[in-house]
Amino acid sequence: MVQYIESGKKKQEKSNKLIYALIIGAVVLIGALAYGSDNSGKQSLADADLPSGEVHWHATLSINLCGQEQPLPVTPIKSHLLHTHEDRLIHVEGVIPDPESIMLGRYMNYALGLELTNTSVMGYRNEIESCNDGKDNTLAVLVDGTPIQDHMNHVIRDGQKIRILYE
Ligand SMILES: [Zn+2]
Ligand SMILES: [Zn+2]
Repeated sequence: MVQYIESGKKKQEKSNKLIYALIIGAVVLIGALAYGSDNSGKQSLADADLPSGEVHWHATLSINLCGQEQPLPVTPIKSHLLHTHEDRLIHVEGVIPDPESIMLGRYMNYALGLELTNTSVMGYRNEIESCNDGKDNTLAVLVDGTPIQDHMNHVIRDGQKIRILYE
């Protein structure tokens, strides 16, 4: 009888261990899936053709809203990698960890603290008559004179002339 109880206990312990193993396995699997899906949207340095060593790049940004050139702010440096000075140039300095950290959306939103989304800039929104010119106005972003798509995720590079145009 005692033996019977003990072996029953052992069985119980064994199945507990199995359940723990299954739970741990599931957690690891879910974690791996989440990590995998989180990473799949990210570009690697190599994919974006970016150098792995230190860089010191400068690019220019201009913003024109309804025909008015906008003065660019000089903001406190939050990220040495992506910042501006009195010269109001875009500075990319240091080792670039991933393309996301030097994208135009990040420069505007984080480094300058200015609103830029896929469809709006500094309070001006796409398809709204904002310029008092009797038409629906549109946001465009040009790099070296060429309009680009997906401007939030545009990876800034040395020497680029970036222009945000709302007209
Ligand atoms: Zn610089
Ligand atoms: Zn600097």
